[in-house]
Amino acid sequence: MVVLERGRRNCAASGNNAGSLHVQLLAYDFLDRAGAHGGPAARTLPLQRDSAAAWPEFAAALGADLDIEITGGLMLAEDADRLERLKRKAALERRHGVEVEVLSANELRDLAPYVSPRMAGATWCPAEGRINPLRAGPAVLGGAVAAGARVHEDAEVLEVARAGSGFEVRTARGAIRSGKVLNACGAWSARIAAMAGARLPARAHPIQLIVTEAAPPFVGHLLAFADRHLTLKQVRNGNLVIGGGWRASLDADTGRPTVRRDSFEGNLWVASRVLPGLDAMHVIRSWAAMNVAVDGAPILGELPGVPGFFHAVTVNGMTLGPLLGRITAEWMRTGRPPPGIGYFTLERFG
Ligand SMILES: Cc1cc2nc3c(=O)[nH]c(=O)nc-3n(C[C@H](O)[C@H](O)[C@H](O)COP(=O)(O)OP(=O)(O)OC[C@H]3O[C@@H](n4cnc5c(N)ncnc54)[C@H](O)[C@@H]3O)c2cc1C
Repeated sequence: MVVLERGRRNCAASGNNAGSLHVQLLAYDFLDRAGAHGGPAARTLPLQRDSAAAWPEFAAALGADLDIEITGGLMLAEDADRLERLKRKAALERRHGVEVEVLSANELRDLAPYVSPRMAGATWCPAEGRINPLRAGPAVLGGAVAAGARVHEDAEVLEVARAGSGFEVRTARGAIRSGKVLNACGAWSARIAAMAGARLPARAHPIQLIVTEAAPPFVGHLLAFADRHLTLKQVRNGNLVIGGGWRASLDADTGRPTVRRDSFEGNLWVASRVLPGLDAMHVIRSWAAMNVAVDGAPILGELPGVPGFFHAVTVNGMTLGPLLGRITAEWMRTGRPPPGIGYFTLERFG
């Protein structure tokens, strides 16, 4: 196997994300988008559950400490209306096989006394947690290299052409022949798909994160907020990582994501509503990276009419990586989709 990377390993979303292991639906994936029966994000819930659970075992197989902690996650509601919505969200999640419980204000205070007393309750999902993306990416790639993969950096793919029953892939560092191709280019996947003549409904979506100075442990769970964009956690060395999908800008000259001041301020405002202790802390860094926007579910599988050309493109890829990797590897090896994943192909777009 050859990995072709335009830049340096772990340089994009996989090395710059928040490291949340998401199992419950995020606020913006619920209700309006998911609808009463659950949309694509809701259909992905069992995959998130299984993939988050697979990370510790995967890390052990790699012999790596990836700072994984299954702390459980809380989605907080600040009034009775929002708590009602969370109850409907929990019912939807349970229908999709995810264990989620609704907590009253008192139960929330008992479990997470550090959260603002203004909160009216929460949903509690014990399977959620966090991982360190700066450790995970190199460990996974290291495992692939140990199994025989070769990695070419600064090797932007420029063209993919049919060559016999396989492909010729032209890169910035020369051409290679390959029997099969996997398009796993995240935000840039649509560009690679277009080289094979396909339209992939995936677009670049720059978002940003904030990290504070380190503090003694006081935030014990992954936190999210009903209605407003927020994820917040305290990582192993004490820093808080704050995000939730706040939009970043694109630099006009380089095309690279850059931090937006209004998103930075909005994200901190929401975070301090939930976590009063944040007001006493200093922010040390904010950065932006390119996420991919799809309809809420992964797009997997072989491109119709182009045998041997596969893709694996997803949001929440830090959570979903181990499972989608396993599904894709099996599909590419056997030529057959593993059972039960037919929904996650291009076909759902008609
Ligand atoms: C700020 C941020 C926070 C996030 N937080 C979370 C989170 O907390 N939990 C979670 O589960 N998910 C999170 N995500 C989503 C997650 O990071 C992504 O879904 C996942 O990393 C996608 O992995 P990928 O390998 O598909 O894409 P990427 O990691 O983006 O990798 C794609 C690679 O393709 C390369 N490439 C592009 N074009 C070419 C070309 N022509 N030739 C060769 N190489 C090319 C790029 O250089 C890049 O290295 C977050 C994303 C962002 C941006």
